[in-house]
Amino acid sequence: MARIGFIGLGNMGGPMAANLVKAGHEVLGFDLAAPVLKAAEESGVKPASHASQAVKEAEIVITMLPQGKHVLTAWTDILQSVAQGMLVIDCSTIDVESSRRAHEMAKAASCLSLDAPVSGGTGGASAGTLTFMAGGSEEAFAKAKPILEAMGKKIVHCGEAGAGQAAKICNNMILGISMVGVCEAFVLAEKLGLSHQALFDVASTSSGQCWSINTYCPVPGPVPTSPANNDYKPGFAAALMLKDLRLSQEAALASGASTPLGAEAAQLYALFEKLGNGGRDFSAIIEMFREKT
Ligand code: NAD
Repeated sequence: MARIGFIGLGNMGGPMAANLVKAGHEVLGFDLAAPVLKAAEESGVKPASHASQAVKEAEIVITMLPQGKHVLTAWTDILQSVAQGMLVIDCSTIDVESSRRAHEMAKAASCLSLDAPVSGGTGGASAGTLTFMAGGSEEAFAKAKPILEAMGKKIVHCGEAGAGQAAKICNNMILGISMVGVCEAFVLAEKLGLSHQALFDVASTSSGQCWSINTYCPVPGPVPTSPANNDYKPGFAAALMLKDLRLSQEAALASGASTPLGAEAAQLYALFEKLGNGGRDFSAIIEMFREKT
């Protein structure tokens, strides 16, 4: 069993660290927010008073932080406090450029590094069923895999530094675009007098099928577990979808990729958030289309 330093114990990091404890690892945790650190302590994480204390003598360090700037700040601290050869894993969803910079910082400190953002939300974090998309060397991936398996059920090595972040934002750009498309189709069906169930029965088994309709249907009824049946409580908050769509557009701009539907989806989610819906599930955007028609 390993000694693990865990930095960022919020909605995702808290349950992920708890699963590492359950798997028998020794986890030293740090978070800037005292109540968050206290909650982690209750699940068996040993609280540290500073990031450097959490990572000292750790064999592996994991960060789960909001944005690239937080990761770079935390990694600057961490890399000053750890031994050469140690592995640092960033599980946050951040921009590809910051991720690659973090890898370079680790390399300069003679440490192994992996970007390993996740899919599966807070439910997957609690249940230990996350999907990890990893970027980094074979050596770093091989060392990280048994640790990630305590928190997830699918661990995919996507390529070199930054490849995990690239996979994450490409996947979530598809998700944002497909959810908008599915919502538009249900609003059109309503105008045409077609029932939700009839559209679902056809589209979920025809060429329109996708995760946004089959698993996460944005209207109540056809898929009883979707947030539409629970007043659009997240689930996956619209603010997080907007964050990921913005990351995809930054990456598209930097790389010269043409993503017109990704750009449109980002604008629609920006408007949806501006209207006060950032904390609601991202499938609630269907209401905005109803209001517009
Ligand atoms: P969160 O805001 O709940 O947690 C982040 C934590 O980081 C906070 O508790 C904050 O106090 C702490 N923090 C910030 N800077 C710090 C620092 N320098 N040192 C120590 N602690 C610091 O966010 P979350 O929902 O846990 O998301 C974390 C990451 O996971 C984000 O990048 C997010 O996009 C990604 N993600 C979230 C979900 C989800 O459903 N919530 C799903 C997939 C991916």
